[in-house]
Amino acid sequence: MKAYTRLSEVRADLKDGSLVLEDLLKHYLQNIQQCKDLNIFLEVYEQEALDRAREIQDKYAQGTAGRLAGMVISVKDNICHAGHKLGAASKMLEGFESLYTATALQRILDEDAIVIGRVNCDEFAMGGSNENSAHGPVGNPHGPMRVPGGSSGGSAASVAAQCCLASLGSDTGGSIRQPASFCGVVGLKPSYGRVSRHGLIAFASSFDQIGPITHSTEDASLLLEIMGGHDPMDATSSRKAIDSYSAKGETPKKLRVGYIAECLSNKAVDSEVVDRHRGLIEELEAMGHEVVEVHLEELKYLVPAYYVLTTAEASSNLARYDGIHYGYRSKDASGVESTYTKSRSEGFGPEVKRRIMLGTFVLSSGYYDAYYAKGQKVRRILKEKTDALLSQCDLLLSPTTPGSAFERGKKMDDPIQMYLEDIFTVHANLAGIPAISLPLFVHSQNGLPFGAQFMAPAFAEKQLLDFAHNLMEARSFKTKEA
Ligand code: GLN
Repeated sequence: MKAYTRLSEVRADLKDGSLVLEDLLKHYLQNIQQCKDLNIFLEVYEQEALDRAREIQDKYAQGTAGRLAGMVISVKDNICHAGHKLGAASKMLEGFESLYTATALQRILDEDAIVIGRVNCDEFAMGGSNENSAHGPVGNPHGPMRVPGGSSGGSAASVAAQCCLASLGSDTGGSIRQPASFCGVVGLKPSYGRVSRHGLIAFASSFDQIGPITHSTEDASLLLEIMGGHDPMDATSSRKAIDSYSAKGETPKKLRVGYIAECLSNKAVDSEVVDRHRGLIEELEAMGHEVVEVHLEELKYLVPAYYVLTTAEASSNLARYDGIHYGYRSKDASGVESTYTKSRSEGFGPEVKRRIMLGTFVLSSGYYDAYYAKGQKVRRILKEKTDALLSQCDLLLSPTTPGSAFERGKKMDDPIQMYLEDIFTVHANLAGIPAISLPLFVHSQNGLPFGAQFMAPAFAEKQLLDFAHNLMEARSFKTKEA
């Protein structure tokens, strides 16, 4: 069976009868079996997905199938799916089952997408390597001893390993884009408020967004168009109209792209990442775009501000896991206090505990002004700076990650090193703007993929996606010619 990389290819083959949905499902199920060692899937909905494939094939034949008929997706283990287990890759939610479906997922299901399974991630979406899972680490399909990135590592790996066509992930500080970069796929974090968070397990509520991981910008656009938009169940979801992201823009617009100089001059960035981005700048100019250098002197404050603010929010969001309401309860619990302390001590993993402690600390009286209030000020300054930059440029360019996928275990003993991985991705979450990672490069030394990141003004997803689409097309045209 051919390796499909976009829904339009699947639909073309369904239309001319050369493909039957059930066979596509079986093909993906076989691939899942073959890459079992990568530990991507926590659960595979084999029978359910096959039944649904038959049902949708019938609908297709009758001309009543939805816009996503033919799309097989995986779902990160922090997005609710009614009647299915949900664990945030934590022991804390052991045995928990969703009572309702997240709005974003429901909208996709309503258009006849098929969910093939639930995928691994970092516990409560905290991490950048998918090594913080209660179910063990995930391997990168491009090199099993390399990390796939995190926290949506299972999502990106499932797409890269051809176990499904697309995946739903979540991004609080890069968790869609960084794994997309490491696995060589497309990852889109929408503007804050573009996609409903109803049914997403909360990590840091003023940062979290659900978004797609795909092979193509075409499918990312289609998924966003379908899952985005106002939802009465999420007061922070925007009422702004959804553009037709999937409609092909007319003649490609010539844009003004600002590359952030500090991101390329940063010593922590792999020299090949820098060189390839310099090459990309020339390529963009050759395509007729104007590329200008812009400055973000505040870059070094972003990771600290992100970790102060997100841990504060997490410490509050995770207070609900008390050993009583959800999932895990310690066997040794007796009385209220020991139920709380024992269940939380045994149920949460080390990284989640570190963040709850950090968050509690930065919110505590006496430290609030020094940390939390200061973090908010940095966020405000960054927002203003970003607005100013994006009033001069249409898009901002930076690498997605300082390097390609690192080896498993390499950064586990040093949380600061791990946190610094997020240096280029947290910007978009702090500022609430959309950002996409495009799989443009392969590292000449280790053969691993890595991405370029483009950011746009809040709710300018249409402009971002049209641009990304044209760039990817120009790229594939060049590769075909070569
Ligand atoms: N790596 C970042 C962190 O650990 C991003 C996580 C995320 O986006 N969910 O917080």
